[in-house]
Amino acid sequence: MKLVILGAGESGIGAALLAKQKGFEVFVSDGGVIKDIYKQELAVNGIEFEEGRHSWKTILEADEIVKSPGIPEKSELMQKVREMGVPVISEIELAWRHSKEAKIIAITGSNGKSTTTALTYHIFEQAGLNTAMVGNIGLSYARQVATAPADYYVIEVSSFQLDDIVEFKPDVAILLNITPDHLDRYEYKMENYVESKFRIAKNQTENDYFIYCEDDPEIRNHLAKKPIYSKTIPFTIMEPKKEGGFIANEQLNIQVKDEPVIMSIYDLALKGKHNLYNSMAAGIAGRTMDIRKEKIRESLTSFKSLEHRMEYVATIRGVDFINDSKATNVNSVWFALESMERPVVLIMGGVDKGNDYSAIRELVTEKVKAIICLGVDNRPIHEALSKDTKVMVNTDNMADAVKNAFQLADKGDVVLLSPACASFDLFKNYEERGRKFKEEVKAL
Ligand code: ADP
Repeated sequence: MKLVILGAGESGIGAALLAKQKGFEVFVSDGGVIKDIYKQELAVNGIEFEEGRHSWKTILEADEIVKSPGIPEKSELMQKVREMGVPVISEIELAWRHSKEAKIIAITGSNGKSTTTALTYHIFEQAGLNTAMVGNIGLSYARQVATAPADYYVIEVSSFQLDDIVEFKPDVAILLNITPDHLDRYEYKMENYVESKFRIAKNQTENDYFIYCEDDPEIRNHLAKKPIYSKTIPFTIMEPKKEGGFIANEQLNIQVKDEPVIMSIYDLALKGKHNLYNSMAAGIAGRTMDIRKEKIRESLTSFKSLEHRMEYVATIRGVDFINDSKATNVNSVWFALESMERPVVLIMGGVDKGNDYSAIRELVTEKVKAIICLGVDNRPIHEALSKDTKVMVNTDNMADAVKNAFQLADKGDVVLLSPACASFDLFKNYEERGRKFKEEVKAL
């Protein structure tokens, strides 16, 4: 069988290695530049590839195409592929076909995927299960299957990867939340984006689990309209319940399969309201696979938070510095501010994807004493928030941003980098932005 792989990033390369190992004739095609390290890997494994172009003839003659999430459906090539009816799958579909004997825990949502994936992995690991953490976080699922197969895969899945699944069927699916993001890829229709997230459950049957946030109106509405076939387990922070995940008397409760997990919310390693959701989701996933309650409690307490996500950096003269560089949309900043108990000097800005800042105006008025704008074009933030905050400072580099923030902060305040925007006006990516922040804080 001839398999063509479109796009040679981590998932494309993983797919190529796996397909080659399984005896396919493999060809990799990337319209841009392929990283040297990936080219070497392809060469060593005897996999043919091209870069800087797409050979239409070879591609259209494929028996099947594995499409990377970055290849736009609207491109001329993809339109031709669809017109010719060549079957297209995503990398997770391919990997799943070759790991059906394993248990799959797949995690999606607009925010909190990486955190919940890492937390779920931590629970499974601590329980002594042979588990791999794959997807957007770490190695691609296909590469893991090809190189170090596991008994459990905890997979972070984006909605793009779900668009080209056919039979992919997780034993446990987690849907954290659905807020507008990447709408440009879904014809600016919210219902298309919601549909795409729900694809995570589309092949599930009555023996599988679907774990979801009941407080999310998009999820609730969709479930009311279109029921799904798996066992559904909701989690909520609104009111105590008999089943699923909930909070009662400042205790986190997980009631799944007759072995309740109950622990104080103050013992949770991850702080903030959003992490109550993430902790419940991960804990429920653990219980569906019969991990004992003690293990779940211990793991939810011992987890170390991920870099760039509400990451504590330092306390200098009584001012705490927190790096939330991964907060690239308004919703994430809402949760970050919501979790703050002290006055905040907020560093935000960057490339704005048409953000609607109205959602955070109230929290800004209530908690933010100054905003440090960090970006090439700070106008959108000024327009949206200047009425809600007393002080606004313009900067276009991290050193100035951190110095200004420190000057404006008093003992007991928090300096929070939670930008609500993409980073590529001033930085390579959000990781570089977060690292630069930490360097400048240390330099103080
Ligand atoms: P993702 O992988 O989905 O981008 P991350 O776990 O990397 O999500 O978290 C990104 C940001 O989103 C964090 O900085 C945090 O402020 C915010 N966040 C985390 N979990 C949630 C949640 N359950 N709901 C809303 N926002 C969240």
